[in-house]
Amino acid sequence: MNLDLAYRSFVLEVAGNPQVERLIRTRARGLVRRYVAGETLEEALRAAESLEKEGIHAILDLLGEMVRTEEEARGFQRGLLELVWALAEKPWPRYVSLKLTQLGLDLSEALALSLLREVLREAEPRGVFVRLDMEDSPRVEATLRIYKALREEGFSQVGIVLQSYLYRTEKDLLDLLPYRPNLRLVKGAYREPQEVAFQDKRLIDAEYLHLGKLALREGLYVAFATHDPRMIREVRRYTEAMGIPRERFEFQFLYGVRPEEQKRLAQEGYVVRAYVPYGTHWYPYLTRRIAERPENLFLVLRSLLGG
Ligand SMILES: Cc1cc2nc3c(=O)[nH]c(=O)nc-3n(C[C@H](O)[C@H](O)[C@H](O)COP(=O)(O)OP(=O)(O)OC[C@H]3O[C@@H](n4cnc5c(N)ncnc54)[C@H](O)[C@@H]3O)c2cc1C
Repeated sequence: MNLDLAYRSFVLEVAGNPQVERLIRTRARGLVRRYVAGETLEEALRAAESLEKEGIHAILDLLGEMVRTEEEARGFQRGLLELVWALAEKPWPRYVSLKLTQLGLDLSEALALSLLREVLREAEPRGVFVRLDMEDSPRVEATLRIYKALREEGFSQVGIVLQSYLYRTEKDLLDLLPYRPNLRLVKGAYREPQEVAFQDKRLIDAEYLHLGKLALREGLYVAFATHDPRMIREVRRYTEAMGIPRERFEFQFLYGVRPEEQKRLAQEGYVVRAYVPYGTHWYPYLTRRIAERPENLFLVLRSLLGG
């Protein structure tokens, strides 16, 4: 395992400790403000509005995952419906991301499917696109099954995510081709064992570009969700060399990450979206951001030491 991956594993492990969680919740407010748009829908919509002024479109994400009761899942579904209805009033592109474990996937696949179907029934007629985030490897199979089931039912404004760190992903991509998916490609944010995932960053990066180019060659619409300047540069070079128009792909960033690069790309005429997370359940999201970037751990440590 190389250093990057060892660091990520360490952070995700330590962050699960309840005492560490208590400390971060109370002392890492600055980091939370940087990565999370706010705790309410109104704050998230205000952040989206500011992004729109810069030519960047928002992907609204009501934070929440791995719920343990049906009541909680239904609570999140209500929150998602409120988000869809609020977006329907807005003049900008309407776009939501959600996690299936937020809708009860760990309780029952049928429950998650039916709650999501109800969300899509409200979203599609209002022109709201719904992206299913991809979670950790034990949930990949069910997520793909639910995505395919919904496409077979006729829903079209729904997209999937694939992660380049998983060995299985090229096969998943090929299996998805008949569905002509709107694809978001990421490297992957979870701690995964070597039985299922590449541990070497160079291999994950190479796979990222390989899968992205394959998807583009197959004619799919691809959202390249990465902050990595090398990935972005190569996607730009490749699409230009192959004459792939800018309507066929976009770049996605997380809120608060490389905002200047987001603006620059938008000014150059690329479609750019920023993932705008909001809500009170921000802890797991924040720990993944710390795990991706050692500088964030230093910020947390500094605030814990009162700096
Ligand atoms: C819009 C969006 C949606 C996502 N959805 C999912 C999902 O559904 N499932 C999932 O598993 N993962 C998701 N991810 C997370 C993703 O899998 C990666 O964990 C995350 O993007 C880090 O990988 P990277 O490609 O950005 O860069 P890395 O490989 O982590 O880093 C490469 C380089 O990118 C730059 N960089 C990276 N992060 C930062 C930063 N915070 N600030 C400044 N520079 C930085 C640095 O130059 C760094 O050296 C999503 C990411 C984005 C942007």
